[in-house]
Amino acid sequence: MLIVSYYNFGIKAVEKAREILLHDGDILDAVEKGINVIEEDETIRSVGIGGLPNFEGEVELDAAIMDGRSLKCGAVAAVKRVKYPISLARKVMEETPHVFIVGDNALKLAKFFRMEEIDLPLKESYEEYLKKKKEVDIKGYDKESFRHLAEDVIGHDTIGVIAFKEGFAAGVSSSGLGLKIPGRVGDSPIIGAGLYASNEEGAAICTGVGEIAIRLVAAKTSLDLLKLGYSVQESAREVIRRVNEIRRRENIKYSLGIVVVDKDLNIGAAANYKFKYVYWNSNDSVEILFEDADFLPP
Ligand code: ASP
Repeated sequence: MLIVSYYNFGIKAVEKAREILLHDGDILDAVEKGINVIEEDETIRSVGIGGLPNFEGEVELDAAIMDGRSLKCGAVAAVKRVKYPISLARKVMEETPHVFIVGDNALKLAKFFRMEEIDLPLKESYEEYLKKKKEVDIKGYDKESFRHLAEDVIGHDTIGVIAFKEGFAAGVSSSGLGLKIPGRVGDSPIIGAGLYASNEEGAAICTGVGEIAIRLVAAKTSLDLLKLGYSVQESAREVIRRVNEIRRRENIKYSLGIVVVDKDLNIGAAANYKFKYVYWNSNDSVEILFEDADFLPP
């Protein structure tokens, strides 16, 4: 069994996911419940209910989940008020004929499934939003503000989890970039960009500026590279090398971190900023381990 995530807060997600696998739970439960722990944490400004709002002060959440055993997947984007977006993404996958539901209609679907709702933003995230809005000088629909947003990427980070037990599953959930343009959707809910899981290849999860992960179809690209003979480490590095190339060419602050797992459960991770991944492998140790990803300076 293997569970992988990233960032400090990923430790809590791995702990929860491990508990589920050790109690004979399914990999989809491990991914979903692991991510729920972070989604409900009011102190995290980049995921779930604690997330920073868009520039109009509204929190819009993105999430996706994928089952590598069947290639089934589900995603929601720019959804408001839903306490556990990853659970809604799972409902889309398991209870509807579709893959991706967005905006107000995703909320409608959540109501249909009687999922928990919450008034957002929370007081503390709203206060932080007001502060940042001033600091970075975001006026709203205004070209100068759009430029500031590109130059000063505010309060991002995603929770991503990969679980393996006789098959792969992966999930990600994020409130996206702080103070984003309303309706902006990042890579997290885009299958192939923010995540991918397939028993034939392995699984990958991303975090960073979603725009570049979408442009590079980062998660799926990393798995395609494995098929071309790259090791997990080479594959993660190659994705980040491509990010850096575009970043230099276009002079946009694109940051990206990626974690790739192959069929033999090797883990590769790289980023163009200081980035740590976290994992638990039932064969290696009882401990949850925290490692530095390869750093490729931008
Ligand atoms: N990838 C997320 C987004 O662009 C944010 C992050 O992971 O840092 O919405």
